[in-house]
Amino acid sequence: MRTINHIKSINPTQLLGKNEEHLYYVSERVAIHQEMKDAFDDMVNAAKADAIELTIASGFRSFERQLMLWNNKFSGKTSIKNRAGEVVSPEHLSPLELIHNILLYSALPGASRHHWGCDIDVYAPNLLAKDYQLQLEPWEYSEQGPLAKLSVWLAHHAHQFGFYFPYESFQGGVAEEPWHISYLPLAQQYQQAFDIELLTLTLSNSSILGKNVIIENLDDIAKRYINNVCAAPTNVILPK
Ligand SMILES: [Zn+2]
Repeated sequence: MRTINHIKSINPTQLLGKNEEHLYYVSERVAIHQEMKDAFDDMVNAAKADAIELTIASGFRSFERQLMLWNNKFSGKTSIKNRAGEVVSPEHLSPLELIHNILLYSALPGASRHHWGCDIDVYAPNLLAKDYQLQLEPWEYSEQGPLAKLSVWLAHHAHQFGFYFPYESFQGGVAEEPWHISYLPLAQQYQQAFDIELLTLTLSNSSILGKNVIIENLDDIAKRYINNVCAAPTNVILPK
């Protein structure tokens, strides 16, 4: 088994997506946590042997990037979808309802697991038609979807490399995300280090849209979305 250095203390700026020192660049645009690289490479190679090109659609995301995604949804620049993949029209929603609708698929900046570098969205380009535009919608990963083979493979093998699905099923918070996998040895440390006061302070000092309503409801939001993730199954193999 590979060894991994236990992170002595989580740097709060890493929790918030405001630090990139821990990153390794897989390609020009995609970065992951340095300490996840070996496990990820092993998983990619194993998938390749089964004719699946396991590829990252989205890896590390900075606070600023998540803020832009959030504000674009809040302002209506980009569309918001419900769990059925239908576009939600925001006109008749209260600010708090709008916030809950966004949180189904988009985390608050400062509270995205993508800030950590050990959580990634994956797909397999070799299973898709050449001109296919990946939507990251659950049906694509379902039995009838083009990425079914990838889903089956991950269900059987991801745990062997330390990975699991924090959004495996809908629990009333974030929608199910069959593309989102998390490297448990690192993720559990970041998850435990979550600090709501730090998040409150960070959001207060940011240009996030809906700021006051978010901060007023942050305890509830944290319970329903940030802390409400699926537990890692007990068969996840941790590096010793
Ligand atoms: Zn994700």
